[in-house]
Amino acid sequence: MHDPVRQHPEEKFKRAGLYGNPPCPICGGNWCGYNSFLCSCMREDKGSFKTVIQPKTGKPAYQHWLKPGTVNYSKSDELDMPIEVIASVEKLDRVYRELLNLLSLYQEHKEDLLRRGLTEGDIKKNGYKSIPKIIKPWDICKKLKDIGYDLSGVPGFYKADGKYEGTYWTFSWKPGYFIPMLDAKGRIQALQRRIENPKEGEPKYMLLSSSGKKGGGNSGTPAHVARPAEIRDRIIWITEGPLKADIAAKYLGAVVIGLMSAGTWVQALEVVDELSPEEVITAYDMDFKTNKLVNKPLELLKGELKEKGLVVRQATWDEVKGIDDALVGGKKITIGGR
Ligand SMILES: [Zn+2]
Repeated sequence: MHDPVRQHPEEKFKRAGLYGNPPCPICGGNWCGYNSFLCSCMREDKGSFKTVIQPKTGKPAYQHWLKPGTVNYSKSDELDMPIEVIASVEKLDRVYRELLNLLSLYQEHKEDLLRRGLTEGDIKKNGYKSIPKIIKPWDICKKLKDIGYDLSGVPGFYKADGKYEGTYWTFSWKPGYFIPMLDAKGRIQALQRRIENPKEGEPKYMLLSSSGKKGGGNSGTPAHVARPAEIRDRIIWITEGPLKADIAAKYLGAVVIGLMSAGTWVQALEVVDELSPEEVITAYDMDFKTNKLVNKPLELLKGELKEKGLVVRQATWDEVKGIDDALVGGKKITIGGR
């Protein structure tokens, strides 16, 4: 009988997309588990030989056999997987807030935000700050330590080796600005970075993370909960991108969930559970019409929301890609049927 599990009892699962692992070989997303012969995919049921219910979440995981050579799996990878203890969200909120407190917003970054459609008031309220170019990150870390903050397990911070001996705390100072990512309770759970002049092939947005580094941690892919100064509408919107969500929230007068990417929608479900709206409007970038990698996760998200008994509708617009540009540009937003 074909039973590779018995043949390789020592092979543990790797987490897709984390710790530098490649994404899921079945769905292309993160968080699925796989080894050299078996994939436990959270999203794709087509072609699976078995469905199991995950004990912790109660969600299904679809088991797929992998043909030999589908993934590059070696025993040593598994042993190298760092064990990281991520600080509680209360601690993350305190440390990130104090970090932002110590920083300022450069004129060129403020102009970028104004150009995107935010006002000075919005910029202040949302707390964007520049990654310092002159003050050194280790000096900022020293300040945080001196005030009494413990930086261990706070994604982004890590201990670097000193030139001669010992270690010192620091974080990446790639130029750009920080976009605070809030949870449903308004706590800063992560810092997104808008990278200044990204090199070709480099992403424009990157989370502040320090996975695999001494004292560091993986930021994960949380969903940002953007709240306008005044909530005029109880409907919750879901879009791709934290900054986009901040801008959309202002113009819509509604809470907007900003996903890290089209595929990281599972995180939105928790937020929806916590805020318990009656209606949700999805506002993914308009390339969902032609891009399977966007459309497929969008359909899965809508399915899960409908299963919760919510009214789920889809916003569309013409000419521009993102909901933020559509709103700022005064385009007509059409909200599709149920
Ligand atoms: Zn998968």
